[in-house]
Amino acid sequence: MFPNLIDARPWYLSILREKGGFTVAVYYKCKVCGQEHKSPIAFGDKKSFESSKLVNNAFQCSKTGKTAGYNKEDMFWKEQ
Ligand SMILES: [Zn+2]
Repeated sequence: MFPNLIDARPWYLSILREKGGFTVAVYYKCKVCGQEHKSPIAFGDKKSFESSKLVNNAFQCSKTGKTAGYNKEDMFWKEQ
């Protein structure tokens, strides 16, 4: 009589969990406020981050709104 939404929901949530388990991110140390922020540039894996050339990327500080230039040396990989 009703569509089987109860069975569909755990399936959807398990996909979200699975994706969350593989979440990796690149962070950078903010030159403006000194804190660590998540890089606006996303990488699929560590290899693609390490093989990439990142020179003078303008990242905006999420705390102060000020922008500074960042090279790859300013960025680091963080497993989650
Ligand atoms: Zn900042």
